[in-house]
Parts: sequence; C-alpha cells; structure tokens
Amino acid sequence: MIPYGRQWISEEDIQGVVDVLRSSRITQGPSTEKFERQLAKKVDAEYAVVVNSATSALHLACKALGVGKGDYVWTSPNSFVASANCALYCDARVDFVDIDISTYNICAKALQRKLEIANENGTLPKIVIPVHFSGHSCDMEVIYELSKKYNFKIIEDASHAIGGLYQGRKIGACEFSDICIFSFHPVKIITTGEGGALLTNDKKIGEVVKQLRGHGITRDKNKMQCKSPDPWYYEQLDLGYNFRLTDIQAALGISQLNRLDEFVTRRNLLAKRYEIALRSLPIITPCVTANVYSSWHLYVIRLQLIKIKRSRREVYEYLHDAGVQAQIHYIPIYRQPYFKRYGFSEKDFPANEKYYESVITLPLYPALQEKEQDQIIENVKDALL
Ligand SMILES: *Cc1c(COP(=O)(O)O)cnc(C)c1O
Repeated sequence: MIPYGRQWISEEDIQGVVDVLRSSRITQGPSTEKFERQLAKKVDAEYAVVVNSATSALHLACKALGVGKGDYVWTSPNSFVASANCALYCDARVDFVDIDISTYNICAKALQRKLEIANENGTLPKIVIPVHFSGHSCDMEVIYELSKKYNFKIIEDASHAIGGLYQGRKIGACEFSDICIFSFHPVKIITTGEGGALLTNDKKIGEVVKQLRGHGITRDKNKMQCKSPDPWYYEQLDLGYNFRLTDIQAALGISQLNRLDEFVTRRNLLAKRYEIALRSLPIITPCVTANVYSSWHLYVIRLQLIKIKRSRREVYEYLHDAGVQAQIHYIPIYRQPYFKRYGFSEKDFPANEKYYESVITLPLYPALQEKEQDQIIENVKDALL
C-alpha cells in the first residue's frame, strides 16, 4: 500500500536520537531548548515552545489567550477535529465559518459577514483559528484587519504549513497572528513521532505557555509569591498540564528541521508533477494563490462527478484495491456526532458541503518516488474511465 503521507527518517535522525538515549537527560532538557531556539530562528519568530502534540499546543494557545466559559472560538470546519476541540477544553463555545471553494481555507468574505451579524447580536468571537489547509496559507492580512475591527485574537493552525510562505514571509513568523501552531505528527511536514509547537512574538505569552506546559509550576524566584524561598522550593501558580516533549523527540526534531527545506522543495516538485499529469482529466486540481508558497502537506483533487461514471466512493475503493491509500480530508467537523449537540446545520456551510462530496487526497510525501507517483497517476486515470 502507498500511504497518503508518511515520515522520512534518515541515519542522521537516528543518530541524533541515539545520542540523547546515551546521555543523562532524556525528557525535557537541553535538546528541547536547542530545538526551540532553532525552530524560532528558522521561521523568524521570537519565541518557540515545543509540546507533546499540536492538540496540546492549540489547547495552551487558547488558555494563554484567556479563553473561558461564555467565549466564542471560530475556526474552519475543513480541518481535523483538534482545531475545534481546543475551545471546548476551555469551556468555550465553538462555531465554524464556511470555506472558500477555491483554496478550501476559511473564507474571508464569509468571516466578514458572520462578524457583522455577531456584532449586532453581541456574540463576537474572542479567538479565530484560521487553518492553513494542505499547507496553503489563509488570507491572513484580511483576517488580521478584521481582527482589529472586531477585536479578536488569532491563532494560526499551521499544522500543515511549516516551511510555507505568505507574502514572502515565513509561516510561523506571526506577522498577522498572536500565536502560530505546528504539528510534528509523522504524516506532517517534519516529525518528532508525536509533537507540536507554539510560535509567538509576545514574551508574556511564551512564558505563560511554558508554565502551563509543566503543571503551572515555576522555579523562577522572581515569579514566586514567597519572597525568601528555600533552595528546594517551587510554586504552582496556575492549573497547568504535563504537555512536555522529551529530549529524545527534540533530537529527532532538530535533525528533521535541518531537512525542512529539502522536504518542502520535494513536495512542491511532486505537486507540480501531479498538476501537469492530471489537469486535463475531469477533476479540479488545487490552486495556489499568487502570494503563497505552499508546503504541500496534502494533494487534494475534486472529482467532477457528472463527467465520470464512478461515484467518489467507487473511485476511492478502486484506488485502494490498486494499492493506493487515498484519503478524505476532511469530514467537516460539524458533521461529527459529538458536534451534533451544538445544533450545526449542513445548510450553513454550502461551500464545505460541495467540497466534501467530491474530494479525494492523493499520496504526497517527500520519500514518494516518481515511479510510484506515475503509477498512482495511471491508477487515477483508470479509475475515472
Ligand atoms: C494534525 C493536525 C492537528 C493535530 O496535530 P497533533 O500533533 O496530532 O495533535 C491539528 N490541526 C490540524 C489542522 C492537523 O492537521
């Protein structure tokens, strides 16, 4: 089976991990700090805090921005459930903004309309979480302008998008956001097995997040309430979590980060090959906006169902039978049984519904060989006959 995505581990990656295993510190320690410094530098952010998953990173981002009971958090329904769950962990209410039918990202126009209505009803969001779907940046400048007008904060869910650019600037630089999140799950652009990161240019947010990552405990004398602490003393100042990344994982992260540009270049090359081979078929290939350099986490195509004999499900099954593990990204979050209790209606998301009925993700990862890709392309052609 050719998976839709997978990691690429080198001998250097393995050596980095082995070195930490032979050292005295295997959980959060010097390698974690080094990974954070290199990550911040790589994406032009002031501060990086690494945690055990992007899910934890989103949770801490909401906490650090003060999300609580009664607050609204808005995100894109075309995402992994974690983009919405972070609000629920904080007892906030979640809502979705329909997508743009060409980029499959949150639609800035739909966002504006929804904000106008919310403004009249007194239900404006505290936070909006744009998701850079497939590695293609959202229209951040427009969303940022809306955030100034309607007074909300922005968390970029860039789980797909490390290594990408928006207006020539790195995703993670937080030019138009308060916090940016990365995921290091094995299908994502770089991996630590499990892991995630928060990027910010706000020192205070960085400090709050670090404290929440470790139980809300501080060992910094300047932050303690006790003015003459004993040498063994520490203080819990907040209700935090254990969201630490291990140094074993951080070592893998450092090594993978060195290969980020190589990975993203390769993903771009393979995406280009798909585009050239598939554009004359009855499918819609992904578009890339002029001011965006995508990291190409996912290659999604939309079937023009009226022009082909097979249904989407039959195409999916045809590909799986041929050894191609195509996927669907994503089942809209509002369709999940757990979210039914909030009373969402499919009618409120016509663009996402239209997208969801015909989309399929083809395999794309840097270790995918051209030969394998050519085989996938042949399988897709056959499936559409
Ligand atoms: C993968 C993913 C997450 C969650 O990442 P984990 O590191 O697995 O917790 C969140 N949001 C999006 C958009 C993702 O693709």
